[in-house]
Amino acid sequence: MSAPAIFWFRRDLRLGDNPALVDALRRGQGSVVPVFVHDPALESAAGPARCEYLRVTLDALSESLGGHLVRRRGDPARVLAELCVETGAREVVATEDFAPAGRRRDRRVGEALVAGGFALHLVDSPYVVRPGTLTTRTGTPCKVFTPFRRVWDQTEVPAPLAPPTGATWIGAPSETYEPASRDAGGRPAYFGDLSDVPPRFDPRVGEAGAHETLVAFVRRVDAYDGARDRPAAEGTSRLSPHLHFGTLHPRQVLAAVTSASRGAEVFRSELCWREFYADVLWHRPDSRWRALQPTFEHLRVDSDAAAVRRFQAWARGETGYPLVDAGMRQLLAEGWMHNRVRMVAASFLVKHLHLDWRWGASWFLYRLVDGDVASNQHGWQWVAGTGTDAAPFHRVFNPTLQAERFDPAGDYVRRYVPELAEVAAPQCLRPGAGEGLLAPKGYVAPMIDLAAERDEALARFAEARALFAAEAAR
Ligand SMILES: Cc1cc2nc3c(=O)[nH]c(=O)nc-3n(C[C@H](O)[C@H](O)[C@H](O)COP(=O)(O)OP(=O)(O)OC[C@H]3O[C@@H](n4cnc5c(N)ncnc54)[C@H](O)[C@@H]3O)c2cc1C
Repeated sequence: MSAPAIFWFRRDLRLGDNPALVDALRRGQGSVVPVFVHDPALESAAGPARCEYLRVTLDALSESLGGHLVRRRGDPARVLAELCVETGAREVVATEDFAPAGRRRDRRVGEALVAGGFALHLVDSPYVVRPGTLTTRTGTPCKVFTPFRRVWDQTEVPAPLAPPTGATWIGAPSETYEPASRDAGGRPAYFGDLSDVPPRFDPRVGEAGAHETLVAFVRRVDAYDGARDRPAAEGTSRLSPHLHFGTLHPRQVLAAVTSASRGAEVFRSELCWREFYADVLWHRPDSRWRALQPTFEHLRVDSDAAAVRRFQAWARGETGYPLVDAGMRQLLAEGWMHNRVRMVAASFLVKHLHLDWRWGASWFLYRLVDGDVASNQHGWQWVAGTGTDAAPFHRVFNPTLQAERFDPAGDYVRRYVPELAEVAAPQCLRPGAGEGLLAPKGYVAPMIDLAAERDEALARFAEARALFAAEAAR
């Protein structure tokens, strides 16, 4: 009998349109040991939302494998070599990972497997186009979105593959698997006692949940351009956790969205932003935690005890600015936040509270079920004015005007800030919205004055620019 191949599931937790899984089945002549390795090095930073989301997603995956998903905890280099010995497999196949930590891990695992007489094959990617592939007309990496979009649009997208049939899955589930004991390893000190409780996320999980979400969205896609900026509406796809964990591949999304409407066009453009940020991160792995625009390395940010208190009030949704607070509470409650509100809440942290964008990015990564190093870090850099295509620093979102424009009836704010549930718009959208209400329903007073802090942000930016210019002239 021929040896099975091992299929190492990572960010491709699906059977449909999974070319790497098809490759493993070919190598194992139809017999595959499907495994997920809980890597403590990645787990400690993942946060409660993604750990819980992963747990239920793996349960769904195991069910679709007839209960044969092997789940082990430990260093993947050791675990996979042991599994090769146990099962007689000689080849391990996985979908390639492009994030900096994943690339380092795969190099190490590949070397360890080769040293043991085995092989690691990396196939396909979680993107339509492999990061690092597309270039400008002159052959250089795309530093801004528009040229990337132009070449991405011209890429031929293969039709999605059907789930494999007739496979033999080998493996008893969960022999040595135990849920992670959540230690505080991944929590920076400035999180303090902020909540570690997993959110109640969208229950449409796993591959079936991903397709259900996609089918529901395809019915609404033509209205996407008008509805996507309204946080109270069901205007966006809610596909981000599925794209992150790979319960759905973007090829499948593109194949399902066949409409030529403006809504569908704008939606495809958003998918392309995901690919663009992965490409930028591939070329600039340091951009995970370093500003892409060097001027901003000089921007003065606060980090003292008062700054930590301001950060925690922001994270708890207690700033006194209703749209910011509604967003931060949606994040705590559901592990997801509407894109418009992500922009407003992030801008508030950077430009009104004068805190380091990396603090905010860490909290988002910790609490989001779709927390993704490429999209999150570059989303933050875009808002902070430090990234690609960044909004100019002097464009400061006013959270009250944003609320009046995008949540005019106050439905979103009232849904997530119960203290304001009885307050009509426009009052519920404004700082001081809870004034006159009695405790315990009383809403916090605004923690800062918008105009004064905007001036302060612009003064700090001018200072950073002067320091950068002086350094460059030296
Ligand atoms: C500060 C900040 C942090 C963010 N952090 C993340 C993150 O950790 N993970 C994440 O997936 N997205 C992140 N985004 C992007 C965006 O907010 C989410 O992708 C979107 O809200 C997910 O909801 P949806 O699936 O309904 O999106 P839709 O509007 O339906 O968009 C469809 C898909 O396109 C992609 N997409 C949409 N907008 C963007 C964008 N601006 N950048 C990159 N990809 C995009 C996502 O994969 C999304 O699922 C962040 C944005 C900001 C401003």
